[in-house]
Amino acid sequence: MSLRIPFRLALALALLAAPLPAAAELTRPERTMIATVDGEQARTLAMLEKWVNQNSGSLNLEGVTRVGEMLRAELEPLGFKVDWIDMKAAGRAGHIIARHSGKPGAKRLLLIGHLDTVYEPDSPFQRWTRKGNDGEGPGAGDDKGGMAVMIAALRAMKAAGTLKTANIEIVLTGDEEDSGNPIELARRDLVAAGKRADAALDFEGLAQEAGPNGLVDMGSIARRSSGSWTLTVTAPSGHSSGVCSAPAGCGANYALIDILDRFRRELPEDKLTFNVGLIGGGATARLDEGRIRLDATGKTNIIAATAVARGDLRALTQEQIDRVQSRMRAIVAKPLPKARASIEFDADGYPPMAPTAGNQALLDRLNRVNRDMGLAPMGTLDPLKRGAGDISFVAADVDGLIGMGPASRGDHAPGETVDIASIWRQAKRAAILMSRLANEKR
Ligand SMILES: [Zn+2]
Repeated sequence: MSLRIPFRLALALALLAAPLPAAAELTRPERTMIATVDGEQARTLAMLEKWVNQNSGSLNLEGVTRVGEMLRAELEPLGFKVDWIDMKAAGRAGHIIARHSGKPGAKRLLLIGHLDTVYEPDSPFQRWTRKGNDGEGPGAGDDKGGMAVMIAALRAMKAAGTLKTANIEIVLTGDEEDSGNPIELARRDLVAAGKRADAALDFEGLAQEAGPNGLVDMGSIARRSSGSWTLTVTAPSGHSSGVCSAPAGCGANYALIDILDRFRRELPEDKLTFNVGLIGGGATARLDEGRIRLDATGKTNIIAATAVARGDLRALTQEQIDRVQSRMRAIVAKPLPKARASIEFDADGYPPMAPTAGNQALLDRLNRVNRDMGLAPMGTLDPLKRGAGDISFVAADVDGLIGMGPASRGDHAPGETVDIASIWRQAKRAAILMSRLANEKR
């Protein structure tokens, strides 16, 4: 970490010191956008601080609504028509949907971010603090920092005159960290927006990897799915002295462990992970309604009659999900003698965003922006290094690019910290990329 700030400062100074060759490929409006992002740094940080200090845990409906109002106050002056989509029916606050109409027949962009954070009002982590290039606070990176990049970029486009003709739709969900139920309702408006768009940009965190001279920015064009399953095993009970003998069988606990062990040995393949998050078994075993707690009872001298496990499965394509699920079903269909087993896959998972040629083409466009800005080209991130996200819901309908937000560390835990310099770098990239894409024919 000690290399990090000097590297970033050196990079920033190098860019300032050598604007001539680097900026030669940029148009005048593009140079205006860069200057606007830099000129508005204090404004953008004050805005981010205000958002961070307003708690918006996914279940704090009032707080999420307030952050939505703060975003409305930024978007309306930029010429967006802003709607609040109430999501009380899904047990969440709602989403912001904002539309900007530009040139007819030009590409339509979809920008995705989220208003909520993982930090509910009872979290000890509630306030913004700045330490040099570090901005610490709940949602400082994920995803209030991402929304700050988005607003800074749009303001730069407005100042440069490139926003006027741009067709842009923004969806800021209020429940990205803990989505509402049913998921079909909670993601209905996002999916519909995806069908209207020609390119989707997800303003979640910028991925970085260690390079020879410090961290380097990476492009992401794929996210894995995330979905959960429940495995239930029952078996004849009896006195423990007869365990694993012919009439009784080994009981539900051994049968459950046998299936999980075969999952571990037989399922592994590239880009696939599956985790067993919860297990329990005995004379009785009951999952609670939220399916995060198991109530199990049993005695050491009784053969277990029932056992339950919950876990997840993350894959890169729908084909991979289907294939792995059918292999899991085949394993479950052959439990230890006398046991019965069944597996259920939750219906509310996140779909995968596969690495398509269209997504790669968008990253190529971003790398042209990088070249013209005098920045290094961004390599393609291994999707294993990224979790599921909202952009996955539109991935089947529109090309997309992930990670337009800032770099941050310690997301989802107290101490989450945004790399402030990356806000400016990402806002400049986003403004130039969006201006170029929005100027193209559909
Ligand atoms: Zn997020």
